Amino acid sequence: MSTVLDQLVANAAAHEADFEGPRAVIPSRHVAIVTCMDSRIDTFRIFGLDSGEAHILRNGGGLVTEDVLRSLVLSQRVLQTRAVLLMHHTNCGLHGTDENALREQIARDAGEPPPYAFGAFPDIDEAVRGAIRRVREHKYLPHRDEVRGFVYDVETGHLREVDA
Ligand SMILES: [Zn+2]
Repeated sequence: MSTVLDQLVANAAAHEADFEGPRAVIPSRHVAIVTCMDSRIDTFRIFGLDSGEAHILRNGGGLVTEDVLRSLVLSQRVLQTRAVLLMHHTNCGLHGTDENALREQIARDAGEPPPYAFGAFPDIDEAVRGAIRRVREHKYLPHRDEVRGFVYDVETGHLREVDA
């Protein structure tokens, strides 16, 4: 019986047959997008993007973590992006999750809580504003003028901007 990974590897063979040729490493739209790992967010389709056009940074919650900031600094300083789009979404697994309860549950299983925060948030607009602030305040980023934050509605496909 084939596993999900076997199926994906088989799909990659079909991808190679359709491959449209190499693209430049510099994203041609000079933009970086930070969003959640949520499987309902099809970043390329939502924003009408194609391979080679944008950096897409994803993690649980679409949080601006240290590692996302590190990636954005590389994105801007080495790979010439200049704008940052931050997108949270409705019905996120981190929205309203009890961070302490999660940590306690993991500590019971593993003997101790993990050394990182999960970043659960009670208010989605506040979470987006916090993400915008973290990017705008990160002095190692040369381009902080064009930073905007949004909430994507996974029920309707609607994108709503959050005022910073
Ligand atoms: Zn999410």
